[in-house]
Amino acid sequence: MDAEVEERLEIDLAAIPPEGGTVEGEVDIIDYEDEFVHPFGGVRYSLFVQPVGSELLVKGRLEQDFDLVCSRCGCDFDTTSKVEDFLQSYEIGEKTQKVDLTTDARDSIILNLPTYPVCSEACPGVETKPNGFQDGRWSALDELKK
Ligand SMILES: [Zn+2]
Repeated sequence: MDAEVEERLEIDLAAIPPEGGTVEGEVDIIDYEDEFVHPFGGVRYSLFVQPVGSELLVKGRLEQDFDLVCSRCGCDFDTTSKVEDFLQSYEIGEKTQKVDLTTDARDSIILNLPTYPVCSEACPGVETKPNGFQDGRWSALDELKK
């Protein structure tokens, strides 16, 4: 058996003490990708997990590295999407063995991506001519008017 990268973020309840505990690791769960968004590496997580009655409370942080395209200058740049306040609760019963956080963790990371990513706050954007858009065809018309 080859060691595989975990592709689900699951909490094994048997490993969690009644007073709660911290789970940490890295899982490869981001399958979202388009022309401008390329995730690399896995989601790093550090979560405090605590069973409270019929619920499992989960809170902590998630991080995922992305290669994004700057919406101003169009260059590629690397950034880390950090969710500092991941907070969820899950219903658990006596027979619950595992709680699957994959979908919630993935959604949090994706929603946390900037709508208009910029490589830096100081990014000047694409260089534009001081007089704006110039089209030679119209200057030809100007010539005719004379
Ligand atoms: Zn830029």
